[in-house]
Amino acid sequence: TSAVARRVDVAVIGGGQAGLALGYYLRRAGLSFVILDQQSHPGGAWQHTWPSLRLFSPAQYSSLPGRLMPPSAVENPDAGHVIDYLSDYEDRYNLPVERPVEVAHVVSGQTGFTVVTDSGDWGAPVVVNATGTWSQPFWPSVPGQAAFRGTQSHSADYRGPGQFVNKSVLVIGGANSGAQIAADLVDSAEVTWCLRGEPRYLPDDVDGRELFRVATRQVQARAAGEPDPGGVASLGDIVAVPPVKEARDAGLLIASPMFERFTAEGVTWPDGSARRIDSAIWCTGFRPALRHLRGLDIREQDGTISLSGTESTRYPGMYFVGYGDWTGPGSATLIGVGATAKATVDSIGHHLH
Ligand code: FAD
Repeated sequence: TSAVARRVDVAVIGGGQAGLALGYYLRRAGLSFVILDQQSHPGGAWQHTWPSLRLFSPAQYSSLPGRLMPPSAVENPDAGHVIDYLSDYEDRYNLPVERPVEVAHVVSGQTGFTVVTDSGDWGAPVVVNATGTWSQPFWPSVPGQAAFRGTQSHSADYRGPGQFVNKSVLVIGGANSGAQIAADLVDSAEVTWCLRGEPRYLPDDVDGRELFRVATRQVQARAAGEPDPGGVASLGDIVAVPPVKEARDAGLLIASPMFERFTAEGVTWPDGSARRIDSAIWCTGFRPALRHLRGLDIREQDGTISLSGTESTRYPGMYFVGYGDWTGPGSATLIGVGATAKATVDSIGHHLH
């Protein structure tokens, strides 16, 4: 690697909501830091969603630390509203976000880490990964997939019903993206929504606020050695946001069992039934965007990353924020990431002193 041009106490990789929440607390702690973000504009993953996406919760319950999200025209805000909020948040707290900067890899050395980017290196005793998951869509492989002549895409690429009008569309996956995309398509396409088991809707009054409360209660109970009260997954998989609730209540959201294989024309089920399909949309989730760490020996045998709080047990001074409950209760949500960011900056303070 080239000579380190710039040094900071903390290099944050990723300038989505997790990176910004970290920035808020790093600023308050008086530490020097930089936030390196691959995108050209503020907003992280919210720049890559579809127009009909609605937040699980009203605006005021989707806020980062310090500043409430302003109310939106509709009760559950859309992604544009979140992007405006995140842009304003960066400005308001004067956060040092550098973009577009892609981190290629991280090198661990005697005096900390070197963060190697496409526009020079940064040296820092502390590195926080906040790269989210959006850039790593996950697709399982299914028999016959290569022979299928229709189109295949991932929810990460979904931009609305436009290209699917009057098509036979297979939506695969029983979580929020699958339900929201199926609901978005039912008026204009012939939708086959495939999932394992029955759709598990959360009670209609459960929103992001309640999810965060349940996730927090579970973590606190575990820490106190109390019986596990059950996490968010015990409540269900699908938040009944208004468009999903409407389609479900109108009887339009019909779940099919998981298909067995692709054919050239479509899919078949174990009982021998078949359906012609023009387009398949995989709503099968994401993996943490951590390719920049591939030069480090950071994973356990089973592929997981061992953490104490949010700090790597293998590389002290390296942290992980915002990826899911394994990096803090509700840390992959707007309402939840603040508490994890605060605890992380407290831990960074101890690490540095
Ligand atoms: P991101 O927003 O993905 O930000 C990470 C940033 O890091 C990106 O800008 C990325 O380009 C950058 N980056 C990645 N790799 C590198 C690299 N090597 N170098 C430099 N930069 C890099 N949450 C809620 O709170 N409420 C909801 O209603 C809600 N609905 C959702 C609906 C869907 C369909 C999905 C998919 C998610 C939803 N979420 C919701 C979840 C969550 O809020 C988002 O996933 C959130 O964007 C995660 O924020 P983040 O900052 O961790 O990651």
